Amino acid sequence: MTINTDLDTQSIDTERLGLEMYNLIAELYPICRSITGDGVRKSLQIIQNHIPLKIHEVPTDTPVFDWTVPKEWNIRDAYIKDETGKKIVDFQKSNLHVLNYSIPIHKKMPLSELKEHLFSMPDRPDWIPYRTSYYKEMWGFCLTDRTLQSLPDGDYEVYIDSSLEQGSLTYGELFLPGQTTDEVLLCCHSCHPSLCNDNLSGISLVTFLAKHLSQQSLRYSYRFLFMPGTIGSITWLSLNESQVSSIKHGLTVSNVGDSGHLAYKKSRRGNADIDRVVHHILKSSAQEYTISDFSPYGYDERQFCSPGFNLPVGSLTRSQFGTYPEYHTSADNLDFVQIPALGNSFETYLNVIDVLENNQSYLNTNPKCEPQLGKRGLYSTMGGKQTTPDDRMAMLWVLNLSDGEHTLLDIAERADLNFSTIKNAVSNLINSGLLEVCSRSVDKPVPVRSR
Ligand code: ZN
Repeated sequence: MTINTDLDTQSIDTERLGLEMYNLIAELYPICRSITGDGVRKSLQIIQNHIPLKIHEVPTDTPVFDWTVPKEWNIRDAYIKDETGKKIVDFQKSNLHVLNYSIPIHKKMPLSELKEHLFSMPDRPDWIPYRTSYYKEMWGFCLTDRTLQSLPDGDYEVYIDSSLEQGSLTYGELFLPGQTTDEVLLCCHSCHPSLCNDNLSGISLVTFLAKHLSQQSLRYSYRFLFMPGTIGSITWLSLNESQVSSIKHGLTVSNVGDSGHLAYKKSRRGNADIDRVVHHILKSSAQEYTISDFSPYGYDERQFCSPGFNLPVGSLTRSQFGTYPEYHTSADNLDFVQIPALGNSFETYLNVIDVLENNQSYLNTNPKCEPQLGKRGLYSTMGGKQTTPDDRMAMLWVLNLSDGEHTLLDIAERADLNFSTIKNAVSNLINSGLLEVCSRSVDKPVPVRSR
């Protein structure tokens, strides 16, 4: 049996995909999301228009390791009115205006008292900051510093029509069964309100990746998770602890739409296959990139890489967590994410998956001295195409290292050739009978699980 998934990465129209990803971001952008509540449900229902996502509800007060599923927060309206009755801050204009998870309030108060509940960014006077208070019950508003500085003394009416009650934490999950139960995990956070790069770009990329992979025959099984940051992954890990050993490779996905270069943060293990594969793809891409070691700060890789799990999960982004001025502000908007960047991020993820799917060991069927390539028509042409020097070197490396001990990624790294060039050589050598799959390297196919 040969398991040789061809994800056909070359024929992807990345510009069209970038546009589709952008359109989904634009559709989700106005919704006020949080770590719980109807905004998350509505967002996941929109994603269900693209993929058959299963929506899970975990009740408030469910213990999850050292944490507890919080009360559910919902909001309908909020504003601050001045003495003339004019709304100077209006939730309907931007959901970032309300401190996320604010408790309800309706009260008149002087400016001095109100100011204790106002947040702005003096160094960016026209941007609204994004602030939350999930675990301390309080209320507040976020506004531009320009508005804050212009407020005259007087009485203000503050109104937040929200609720913080028993309910549930909502997350979305899609499981695509492959030929083995070994899993690849792709995880994004779904808790941010109107922020495009942080959150929505990841949601959109994971959605379209799931849609694309659902049309392929896959070696690995794939699990896609759309969960609130931190509490979502803690909850998922707590509920699914018994099956996490199936996760063989994983990535957390966010910040994939800005114009910065690609950046990879390694898993805690540092030398997991996913770390090597992403490094190889970035190196082969002829684009600028950075690679950093694991640190226990950032997205949900923090939970997957906690010492009790230590899963091979890294984080592949463009501009990293907290490193760009627009991060967690109203400037992370629909102008900040770029269609070509979204398309390029999608292509990069697909290239990573193509390596994971095809990375296995082969056996040279003619290992005693070099086989005669010329008489098989392999030396100057391959698959009807003229060979390049790289193609010829790839054939020689594959024949030499296909002793059952080396994977194609080992060979690509050692030969300093792109994985796609190595994969192409393998395909031609198999067709010529010079190579066969090493049965030891093939995952045993098992019955598809219903979960
Ligand atoms: Zn964030």
